Amino acid sequence: MTNRVLIVTADPDDARALELALRKAKDGPFDIEWAARLSDALARLRAGGIDAILADLSLPDSQGIETFDQLFATNPQTPILTLSAVEDDALATEAVQRGAQGALSKGHFGSSLVPQSLRNIIQRKAVEESLYLEKTRAEITLNSISDAVIGTDMSGNVDYLNVAAEHMTGWTREEARGHPISEVMQIINGTTRESERNPVELVLQLDKPMGLTAGTVLIRRDGKEAPIEDSAAPIHDLNGQIAGAVIVFHDITAAQAMRVKMTHLAHHDFLTDLPNRVLLNDRITQAIALAKRRGTHVAVLFLDLDNFKRINDSLGHETGDKLLQSVALRLSACVRGSDTVSRLGGDEFVVLVTEDKYAEDAVVTADKILAALAAPHAIDKHELHVTTSIGISSYPADGGDTETLIKNADTAMYHAKEMGRDNYQFFKREMNVRAVERQVIESHLRHALERQEFVLHYQPKVNLATGAITGAEALLRWVHPEWGVVLPERFVPIAEDCGLIVPIGRWVLREACAQARRWEDAGLKPASIAVNISALEFRREDFVEGVRAILSETALEPRCLQLEITESVLMHHAASSTAILQQLKDMGVQLAVDDFGTGYSSLSYLHLFPIDVLKIDGSFVQDIDSINNNGSIVSAVIAMGTSLKQRVIAEGVEKPGQLAFLKAQHCEEGQGYFFSRPLVAEEFAALLATGIPEAAFD
Ligand code: C2E
Ligand code: MG
Ligand code: MG
Repeated sequence: MTNRVLIVTADPDDARALELALRKAKDGPFDIEWAARLSDALARLRAGGIDAILADLSLPDSQGIETFDQLFATNPQTPILTLSAVEDDALATEAVQRGAQGALSKGHFGSSLVPQSLRNIIQRKAVEESLYLEKTRAEITLNSISDAVIGTDMSGNVDYLNVAAEHMTGWTREEARGHPISEVMQIINGTTRESERNPVELVLQLDKPMGLTAGTVLIRRDGKEAPIEDSAAPIHDLNGQIAGAVIVFHDITAAQAMRVKMTHLAHHDFLTDLPNRVLLNDRITQAIALAKRRGTHVAVLFLDLDNFKRINDSLGHETGDKLLQSVALRLSACVRGSDTVSRLGGDEFVVLVTEDKYAEDAVVTADKILAALAAPHAIDKHELHVTTSIGISSYPADGGDTETLIKNADTAMYHAKEMGRDNYQFFKREMNVRAVERQVIESHLRHALERQEFVLHYQPKVNLATGAITGAEALLRWVHPEWGVVLPERFVPIAEDCGLIVPIGRWVLREACAQARRWEDAGLKPASIAVNISALEFRREDFVEGVRAILSETALEPRCLQLEITESVLMHHAASSTAILQQLKDMGVQLAVDDFGTGYSSLSYLHLFPIDVLKIDGSFVQDIDSINNNGSIVSAVIAMGTSLKQRVIAEGVEKPGQLAFLKAQHCEEGQGYFFSRPLVAEEFAALLATGIPEAAFD
């Protein structure tokens, strides 16, 4: 590699002598340039590419050390040799002190030593420069990383700290230098709080890399603590001898906080921040273990909100979510700190009541919950009302493990739903029997339609004044090959729960209409056929169209069909009920309110509904001759029906006394065992032909 040398001298002889010496040198090749004035030299230096300078300090435009200073300042990296006469020795020495690499004595320029020393200084400068670069790079790297780095010598005394280590230990590099590592980097065991041996000491002793034991805490000079994680390693010299050690460590506070957060997330419900199923299971298991030792009780309350789905569907998930959060808050306020409120998902919550000495504790909590939830929830400008059904199971009576306790509380919750919602029920063994029975019924029910196991029975409705049959109510019967006739009470609620009521209901409607048509064709004329419609059918979007299709399919006149819808179904969504009823009404179908008196009717709605018939529930009719009642409700309903211009039918008429009372109150129609039990189609046809025996009315 060629080196470019700038000769700076006003003496052309000197310049020539140097050039000559350099050109013939074996250590070459050198490219030589010559500047006679300082200003020329500086300009050339600024242009770059000069590897070494040979400079006479006395020039036409600059003298003495000033010349050197200017050359050096312009390009400090380029090595400079001064050219000096013997008498200038002091000046040469001063130049060396200020950064010159050395001096060449005038008169010896021809020597072979000149190129050799020039070569040396150029090389030395290059090595120095790359060392410097490497060191700077290491320094910058070490100071930019967030890990703390401390270096020690053989005896464990600190000789280096990067910026992060300064921050973390509270020692500056200058202060720390020479102090033992154990002093600069104080560590203790986070649990026992005992001081811990610094791994550097072990590394120096064993001459192999080491990690720090988990749970180590660093104590900063000012006493502040930080959990750390680290590793230490030995440093070896050129001969492979251990020369010191380096320890690298970092603060794991953030990582630990993240870990804590992750564990929290894994154990809590994101919406309400309540413990989730995983944590709940854990808490119940612990509570059981404790109760077993102490001989105490544990109660598990299983909650399901009663009308949550409707709110969620009609007002949107956001509102639904806020409602769940509001419920979560109220639930938490109902329990003691030692109890757990957990959300299993959806609108299901479980409350664990621990240290429950008497079973009454669960009752107190359940009562509190029912009351707390009853108050309206103000959410997004809505006043939302939500109630809950609660099932309670307890340890040890209802189960010895978490799974059984939750399952039994769940079963009891279903029972609470059946008992009309907004209440709590304790688990009883029979509930499980019933739950199993329900499952068996449901599985058989799934095949009942295709196996044609359903039949309809017909019960006449009678004009109380004339005794004429005014219509028939179709009542569903399930004739099971093994169990015999199953009554609707046992299977209709199950069919409603699992949705099977929809296809079953459609079959009933088609069959009833077809039967009415056949009777008509046979010249018998029941004025109308009544069909019971359940909530699920009534709420389906395709319900009205389904009725229309069946009517045209069976060619039955719409006015011959009467749909019976229970009072509670109508009132539940009173506003939307009106719209559906109106469509049916427009079609010409007759409408009846079934089981009237058992729900909570709003009279204003009752007035709005396009209803033809009120069917007084049988229970009121049966109360007619009881002392407490003496028919006052029945009289009231009859009066109301008359004023609303609706026909009133009394259900469940069993006794002559009841009939007499109803007739006296001018109730128009009746239905009940007194006139006839529900009959199969052929029997009913016979009854239509003969009529109800007149004797019954006298
Ligand atoms: P409902 O519509 O109120 O029907 C009247 C019920 O009272 C019938 O019971 C009938 O047999 C019974 N009953 C009639 N006269 C008397 C009497 O003098 N005394 C007493 N104690 N009871 C009498 P059933 O057939 O067991 O039906 C029970 C309920 O099941 C019905 O009450 C109705 O809500 C429902 N249901 C019946 N068939 C169907 C159907 O096809 N679809 C739907 N969704 N529900 C039905
Ligand atoms: Mg009915
Ligand atoms: Mg009824």
